[in-house]
Amino acid sequence: MSFDLHSHSTASDGTLAPRLLVEHAAAAGVDVLSLTDHDTTEGITEAALAAQTAGLQLVPGIEISVTWNSHVVHIVGLGIDPANQILQQGLVKLREFRDWRAEEMGRRLEKSGIEGAYDGAKALSNGHLISRTHFARFLVNQGYVTETKKVFQKYLTRGKPGHVPGQWAELEDAVGWIKAAGGEAVIAHPARYPFTRTKLRRLIAEFVEAGGDALEVVSGSHSRDDNFTMARHAKDFSLKGSAGSDFHGPENPWVELGRLTQLPDGVVPIWRDWPIQRMAKTA
Ligand code: AMP
Ligand code: MN
Ligand code: MN
Ligand code: MN
Repeated sequence: MSFDLHSHSTASDGTLAPRLLVEHAAAAGVDVLSLTDHDTTEGITEAALAAQTAGLQLVPGIEISVTWNSHVVHIVGLGIDPANQILQQGLVKLREFRDWRAEEMGRRLEKSGIEGAYDGAKALSNGHLISRTHFARFLVNQGYVTETKKVFQKYLTRGKPGHVPGQWAELEDAVGWIKAAGGEAVIAHPARYPFTRTKLRRLIAEFVEAGGDALEVVSGSHSRDDNFTMARHAKDFSLKGSAGSDFHGPENPWVELGRLTQLPDGVVPIWRDWPIQRMAKTA
């Protein structure tokens, strides 16, 4: 069975509509896919419908933006009920901050000589959720920078002209919303944060304290060594392990759906007790 429990659609900063993402995943051999858009569950209805036709199992998910110790950390929720009001009330507040931040990013970029960035980024989004990724794509399209990675370095990270500091969700709140919605909470791509080992373990300890369930041991943004290091942490804290590509679209060929390595030995897969059926295509 092929599991991919972290992916994005046009509901946040992915480039494939939910239906196309699901079809792409099925074609890549994924059996169980989670759609985990940033701070929104808007894509899940369409993805779940497409999953029935494509013959894969869709796990409703979310990736919540958290500020922890002045750093942005992402908490994935798997198996959530998108209709849950506690979760949705939390997400609404995050999107309000996002909307304000996008306008403020536009104003700051304008001051450094880049016009129309807010409108440009918004036009590249579905209109409901604007990410720094949309600004990055706009700046690349306009020829300010050659590739999205460089936009982040030059414009969108701390201390750079388009960066807007601010507060996302509290760690305990994000975990609490996910649990309230019946889901399991996962620290996303744990090796990607600029933390020392000690600081990462402090994050994990607080996450466990808040009721967290798993570490994303295998991630499209991890090296093999990262996977093994995170497996060690998961075992030390009795957390389960998850695996997800963090796929954002086919134009990033280095992160493909369903091309993940297996969870290292001894890690309990988060899906161990899930009711998984092999689904037959209905069309
Ligand atoms: P936001 O949640 O709007 O602040 O945007 C964060 C998103 O930007 C992440 O989910 C990534 O998809 C993307 N991102 C962050 N840092 C980088 C980077 N250095 N290079 C490319 N994409 C990045
Ligand atoms: Mn993203
Ligand atoms: Mn993330
Ligand atoms: Mn992600």
